[in-house]
Amino acid sequence: MKNRNTIQRALVLEAVNALRSHATADEVYEAIVKAPPPVSKATVYRNLNLLSEMGEIRKMEIPGGADRFDHRCHDHCHVRCEQCGRVFDVDMDYVTGLEKGIRDTHGFAFTGYDILFRGICPECRKGE
Ligand SMILES: [Zn+2]
Ligand SMILES: [Zn+2]
Repeated sequence: MKNRNTIQRALVLEAVNALRSHATADEVYEAIVKAPPPVSKATVYRNLNLLSEMGEIRKMEIPGGADRFDHRCHDHCHVRCEQCGRVFDVDMDYVTGLEKGIRDTHGFAFTGYDILFRGICPECRKGE
């Protein structure tokens, strides 16, 4: 038997997968409240964090913006539209092991990196 928590978590995961847009927590919530059962905003937030800790989705911290949640968990690059703020995947080879090439003098053990390009998305460019 699925308990209530499992059902709520599945709902949140389903919404992130369906949105496919690196949605913010608010956007995930908006998508979920459209249909029953009612789920609170706090529940959505809690489950988003839980799912990213479980490795089901990936939490992206965006400098100067709300965290976004990615349904794709493997390493890949992103581009953020400077006008609408949406985040898209970039289709390019991800350079693996880049962090291994860093010989740091500050005592860090580097574990990874994120590449976030900036640009103007096709939709925003139409309005130029
Ligand atoms: Zn845009
Ligand atoms: Zn992505």
